[in-house]
Amino acid sequence: MVEAFAVASGKGGTGKTTSTLALGMALAEEYDVTVIDADTGMANLLFHAGLDDADVTLHDLLVEDRDASVDDAVYERFGMSVVPCGTSLAAFEAADPIRLRDVVAELARDTDVLLLDSPAALGSKSAVLPIVLADRIVVVLQPTVPSLSDGLKVQEYAHSYGTDTAGVVFNRVRPDENVDRIAEQASRYFGGQTLASVPESDAVRAARRAGEPLLAHAPDDAAADAFREAAARLDVRD
Ligand code: ADP
Ligand code: MG
Repeated sequence: MVEAFAVASGKGGTGKTTSTLALGMALAEEYDVTVIDADTGMANLLFHAGLDDADVTLHDLLVEDRDASVDDAVYERFGMSVVPCGTSLAAFEAADPIRLRDVVAELARDTDVLLLDSPAALGSKSAVLPIVLADRIVVVLQPTVPSLSDGLKVQEYAHSYGTDTAGVVFNRVRPDENVDRIAEQASRYFGGQTLASVPESDAVRAARRAGEPLLAHAPDDAAADAFREAAARLDVRD
């Protein structure tokens, strides 16, 4: 049975796209994984996955009377099936976000794990849908109280739609930060588990510049280890 995860956060730039691809590659060791760039307004997963010149993208699947089939927008990369989204504003405006439901349902037939790289913030239909469509959310936060507060709102939102919390990935953790204290606060705020504390790492930036997921570019980096640990803790249902 497929399990769908939305990788979400309160604000942008916390590391959702980085996390989506890293978790995807780690889970692909064991499962058939499909990664979807559901951040249709600010899509940039394509840059992280070497798919800058992808011809057909999610945008082409979200229009009325579409010509493309779902398979046309699926690219086999790094051991995963990747559905990138385009970066054109006009294409975003032409897309009907609600159609993501059908696209996800179609992709779900052929995979074990779906990871939805989700937009930051809440409010618009395109921001909400990935969370509504997922079984569980992975909340990617920076290890600060304001970020926890943002994450809590995302979680409340998810729960109101019946989507559970898988846990929190703390990203860009610096050596001087007290991870235990933050994890304790997270469990108090979220009542859930900390999946991993991912260190601030030059390798993450280098991977993005190379157009490769971290686990492909620098599999031995400490941040890659942390993401593998997070993937193992997700305890994907069989
Ligand atoms: P989001 O999808 O939440 O907007 P991204 O995954 O695109 O965030 O990350 C935002 C920026 O932060 C990127 O330039 C990325 O390379 C950088 N970044 C993310 N995680 C780390 C990390 N652990 N260490 C260093 N840089 C990071
Ligand atoms: Mg992103």
